[in-house]
Amino acid sequence: YNVPTAYNEFVKTYAPGTPEREAVAAAFKQMFNSTVDVPLYIGAEEIRTGKTKNMTPPFDHKHVVGQYHEAEKEHIEKAIAAALEAKKKWADMPWEQRASIFLKAAELLAGPYRAKINAATMIAQAKTVHQAEIDSACELIDFLRFNVQFMTQIYSEQPISSEGIWNRMEHRPLEGFVYAITPFNFTAIAGNLPAAPALMGNVVIWKPAATQVYSANVIMEVFQQAGLPAGVINMITGNSAMISDTLLGSPDFAGIHFTGSTGVFNDMWAKIGQNISKYKSYPRIVGETGGKDFVLAHPSSIPAQVATALTRGAFEYQGQKCSAASRAYIPASLWPEVKELLLADLASIKMGSPEDMSNYMSSVISEQSFDKLAGFIDQAKKDSDAEIIAGGGYDKSVGYFIQPTVILTTNPKYNTMCTELFGPVLTIYVYEDAKWTETLALVDGTSSYALTGAIFSQDRYAIVEATKALENAAGNFYINDKPTGAVVGQQPFGGARASGTNDKAGSILNLLRWVSPRTIKETF
Ligand code: GLU
Repeated sequence: YNVPTAYNEFVKTYAPGTPEREAVAAAFKQMFNSTVDVPLYIGAEEIRTGKTKNMTPPFDHKHVVGQYHEAEKEHIEKAIAAALEAKKKWADMPWEQRASIFLKAAELLAGPYRAKINAATMIAQAKTVHQAEIDSACELIDFLRFNVQFMTQIYSEQPISSEGIWNRMEHRPLEGFVYAITPFNFTAIAGNLPAAPALMGNVVIWKPAATQVYSANVIMEVFQQAGLPAGVINMITGNSAMISDTLLGSPDFAGIHFTGSTGVFNDMWAKIGQNISKYKSYPRIVGETGGKDFVLAHPSSIPAQVATALTRGAFEYQGQKCSAASRAYIPASLWPEVKELLLADLASIKMGSPEDMSNYMSSVISEQSFDKLAGFIDQAKKDSDAEIIAGGGYDKSVGYFIQPTVILTTNPKYNTMCTELFGPVLTIYVYEDAKWTETLALVDGTSSYALTGAIFSQDRYAIVEATKALENAAGNFYINDKPTGAVVGQQPFGGARASGTNDKAGSILNLLRWVSPRTIKETF
């Protein structure tokens, strides 16, 4: 198939004096000081229900940057009808034409929309410019470009034929609509979860997280500018339970593309199970959920590498990546050096509004998240088997700021070693060097999740041992690198156990879920 070769978008530096830094600073200022009114996008209509919610940056929560409109049940039903109507033409559109639209969206994001989408992500998600760049610019562009390549790989998968017989496989979209639910923490995921099924000829009803609507609105604008026909991706906001009940109760529900919490995903399975006899087909259930991701250092590891992986893996984007390092196992022999380096790194971290590009961190996403994290920190201050060795402070007067916090525990099953916190709190357990094998079992058995994990070692036998012992503990396993920052096309992303269905975002495996192939045999 003749399609442009996919390549990873080059990450810009935003160094002082660069044009990209000036452009994003100007976009931030302009957007921060104005307001937007986000409608429901249903078919060709922009619907304003009048039932609105304010959007406020989490690092400055009294400041309003706009509002969005909440749907009623009738709007969700209308979205289903609009999607099914759009499907009549979309499903039969030649694949090159569908691909062109998403490739154009990628080029819009790479060029004219780069500053705007990054500024939106800085404002709504409280990401630094560097974290925004690798997400809303590069990763989203990569998803859009690589998906086209994966699509053609799928289409070229054909059965064998023989004399007088021609066997063919048609990779049809699913019958019905796909429901995309996207999380607050990645604008790239917000774009990809509706875009991937749509590229394969499906129609989508997309519900972004409430704290993501602001940046989701820019993605919608990009899709429209790229020429996506009305009704192919419909964006709705409102009461989550009502929306899910309505969509999952429809006989035309064909699949769910989900990233979010394990609890919500489990609810989706339960609701889908209750409705199973209503559906025309068994729905595709694709989800990436939580993580309790580990960094394991072997006595042969290099302390400076481990410390950097902890600083970056645990605290970039305030630890709010599903992949974030949140539990670490360090051998006693290396602990003094790792501790010194880590605490020095953390002491140099500046926190505040993303507008000040010298800040390394900003606030957490919401008051709910802030309160939960503060609760865990307070508890650790009281517990005799835990000690806070860095941070521990928090303040929500202006924004939801939590200091980068390190809890040292003598109990390998301490609460924060096992529970997903989704914030800038890292828990460390120091193990006796001689107990390496027991520690491997501990890493595997401590959490029900299996998303990412990292092993640091200079000893190849130890690497081999850890790779085998932890084969089910992480869908993305890193050797001598931090467990965050998977790149589309390079490290297909996703985990099993309580972390999801492991359908690997950024790979052909994910796109395969959005087709319902038909085999055709013709004899001559
Ligand atoms: N793919 C991202 C990473 O590797 C994490 C995505 C998520 O948080 O869901 O860091």
